[in-house]
Amino acid sequence: MAKRRAPACVIVAIANQKGGVGKSTTAINLGAALALRGERVLLVDTDPQANATSGLGFTRGDFTHSVYESLIGDLPVEEVVEPTRVKDLYLAPASIDLAGAEIELVARFAREKALTRALDGAKARYDTILIDCPPSLGLITVNALTAADEVLIPIQCEYYALEGLSQLLRNIELIQSNLNPHLKIEGVVLTMYSRRTRLTTEVAAQVREHFGEVAYETAIPRTVRLAEAPSFGEPIELFDRTSPGALAYRYLAAEFRRRHGRS
Ligand code: ATP
Ligand code: MG
Repeated sequence: MAKRRAPACVIVAIANQKGGVGKSTTAINLGAALALRGERVLLVDTDPQANATSGLGFTRGDFTHSVYESLIGDLPVEEVVEPTRVKDLYLAPASIDLAGAEIELVARFAREKALTRALDGAKARYDTILIDCPPSLGLITVNALTAADEVLIPIQCEYYALEGLSQLLRNIELIQSNLNPHLKIEGVVLTMYSRRTRLTTEVAAQVREHFGEVAYETAIPRTVRLAEAPSFGEPIELFDRTSPGALAYRYLAAEFRRRHGRS
């Protein structure tokens, strides 16, 4: 029998220019669930709001370097990384100076590839690298999509969910044809799902019709515990591991691993 090769690192950008759809929540909790299944996971926070960073319990004084220095100063991401409270989950934290990076990047050489360059050395150390993107299609998101192998799109189950998505998909196509031909849409995940509302079921049906198998079977329910966990600086797995939100992110991680031939 052929010897099994160790699976290569996969870099996943979690993106949707729409705000508040569950990007950071998914980055934190999918990351933690994958780490608890034995993967080595790096979460790269590229959002100046730093929600993934604070959601993992980090405030400004807790780290020396941030992703800003990787984007603007070519500091290799592995030098930015901090261990988190979850074994095998690592964080490249964001800081508020990333707000200026959008502008500062404009003047940089090969400005779309700054993150690609900075991540190069980190790839060998992780099974999965998740990039939490800001809610815009600016240069930071372009950098994330250029560095990524795959994009995961969280979609909030609400009336305007699909609006604006075509803009994201067009941007992904532009990146595929100009900067990163091997980028693929890894998946679409429904977030803040509430079984009791008709709207949710309608949006879910639309998304599944539009995306087919790209849509994850797992939908993330709307639960207070998921919203509370970040203020305690903990992924849901540490905060309340028996809650429906924790279970959902565990299912999502299992599905993610099956899709990548890792289970
Ligand atoms: P932004 O675009 O601002 O970066 P985002 O897409 O990263 O936002 P989150 O920060 O993950 O979205 O979520 C937005 C808000 O909704 C947060 O307050 C979060 O705690 C809450 N939230 C996310 N997912 C759920 C859920 N499944 N159930 C309840 N609340 C949730
Ligand atoms: Mg966010």
